This record gives sequence, structure tokens and C-alpha cells, in this order.
Amino acid sequence: MKSVCLKRPGEIVLADIPKTRRGSGEILLKVRSAGICGSDIGAYKGVNPLVSYPRIIGHEIAGEVVEVPEEEVDLKPGDRVILEPYVYCGHCYPCSIGHTNCCENLTVRGVHIEGGMAEYVSHPRHLLHRVPDNIPWAIVPMAEPLVIAMHAIKQAQTRAGEHVVISGAGQIGLLAAQYAATIGAIAIIVDPVDERLALARALGVAHTINPASSDALAEIKTITKGRMAEVVIEASGDARAIRGAIDYVSYAGRISLVGWPKGDIALPTALITKKELTVRGSRNSVGQFPESLRLISEGKINVSALLTKSVTIDETPATVVDIAEHPERYLKVTCLF
Ligand SMILES: [Zn+2]
Ligand SMILES: [Zn+2]
Repeated sequence: MKSVCLKRPGEIVLADIPKTRRGSGEILLKVRSAGICGSDIGAYKGVNPLVSYPRIIGHEIAGEVVEVPEEEVDLKPGDRVILEPYVYCGHCYPCSIGHTNCCENLTVRGVHIEGGMAEYVSHPRHLLHRVPDNIPWAIVPMAEPLVIAMHAIKQAQTRAGEHVVISGAGQIGLLAAQYAATIGAIAIIVDPVDERLALARALGVAHTINPASSDALAEIKTITKGRMAEVVIEASGDARAIRGAIDYVSYAGRISLVGWPKGDIALPTALITKKELTVRGSRNSVGQFPESLRLISEGKINVSALLTKSVTIDETPATVVDIAEHPERYLKVTCLF
């Protein structure tokens, strides 16, 4: 079967490998669509220390059920599903308290274990979710970045009526802004790229700020009538933006860190104490796929607007190289099988 394989950092090929067989207790899928994620690009560039090589990439994977275990009573061949790529151990401390998303022994498809960018994939039954019929294959994989965005908003305990500054108008930021709106919160997107801000406005985000050409602090102060934002979602991973979050947030505010910075960042902890901030990490997601799929199916979150294009599996290696070289040209690309 065809697969998209990273031989080593900087070398991505279409590889012909033996067809995947169904693992015990697992379900075999014929992959129909796969999203290319920022983390796949990081793996290609060799900047993700968690990735080992060679590695089949891809963790945003949707497809049709081909083969089920004898005891399976729900899913049957032909059913449309998306896989939850965070495979947890079930017995470590975070797993024992329900935080399977940050399992100590977490293995993520396409990162620690083989990804799903191949014609077939076998995956544990409890990590598969049924996909509503009205979501086209080209956008089904985007339910995965949406759960990441939803988790970041939930980690900050965001409530209706609150202002949410979202730093970074990439996929996660644009999805977080839309999700914030669905729960009645007011999104303020901060990003230095005007085209991204224009897209945010087209998606209904009322407040957008370019920190390179305006005084973000002053603007947030005006929008929030002096209070500053009760919630900040840091979705860029940029060092200055992470530092900025502490200024953008209100006293007694909450910050959710979902972007991955490139290195350690010095922060004014005295200011965190003075403002009594809650700063929380936000990694992957837990239990949010059904809601994510429902929001997309009901048209409450527009993921299509973030789809730059879809390509074939044969075109995928060259597309990954182009995204790595020109990231500004792309938001989401999906690979259709
Ligand atoms: Zn992803
Ligand atoms: Zn665990």
C-alpha cells in the first residue's frame, strides 16, 4: 500500500509498504482523508524531538471501516469514522484522573508511532468516532485541530460574556475564536499577519489587532473597558506573544498555553503573583471529538474557510516540502485518498 514516509529529517517520500493488517481488538480503516498538520511539518524539518525516523506521518486521519473484531456490535464495514490519535496507557497518574491527553506514556500517531497517512490503518476501537454523513471527507480531518482549540478554551474555564484574547491566527487560533463565539465569549485575535486578521473578520471575529502596527495593549484596554481580557489563549508559541499574554490578561485572569515554543522563555513571575493569574498548559484534548464533529456538522464552526486545498497522496510529499518552505501560503491542506 502507499504511505507517506519521512526517511529522515528533510527527506519525505511516497513509500510502498506491506498492507496494514488489523491489530487485535482494533478496527481496520481504509483511509479516505488525512490532514497535514504543523507537527507533520515540524517532523519533516526535524525540529520535533519526540519524532523518531523513519516514520509514516499523519495524525488527522479519517476513513471507512473495513474490518472489525468479532465482538464489535456497533461499527460495521462502510461506516465513516475519524481516529483520535492520542493513544494513552490507561494506568499512569494522569490517566487515573482522566487526563489521558497528557498520559506519561502517550504515543501519538505520526509522532511516536506510525501515522495514518497510508491507504490503511488499524486503530483501537475506543479511539474511533463516527462522522456525520454531511461532513465531506476533505474537511473531516479538521475535527482534530478543532478539539485542540476547544480544549484550550476549556482549560481556561472560559465563560459567556468574557473577553478572550487569542494570540496567533493560525488554524488553532481561528478555530478557538469560533469556538469561543459558540459559548458566548468575545474573541479578540492578535496576529502580525494582516491577511490572517482579514480571514478572522470574515469568520465573524469582531476584534482583530496587528501588534506590529498598533498598540495591542491599548486596544485591548479599550475593548475591555480597562479590565483587560479575562482569558488569553496563547496559540502562537512565539516568545514575545507568550510574554505579552501576561500583559493582555486581566487581574485574576486565566491563560491557556497551547502553542509550543521553540525553547525556554523567561517570564515575570512576580507579575503572575501580583495579578494572581492561572496559567495552564493545554495539550491535545480529552473526550471532545463528538462535540467537535457535531459543531462542524451543524455549521456552527466553519472549518472549510481554513482549507487551503486538498491534494492526492501522490502529491503529498512535494506538498509537505512546499508548506515547510512557504508556511505563509497555507492554513490547512488535506490529502484525499
Ligand atoms: Zn494536528
Ligand atoms: Zn497513561
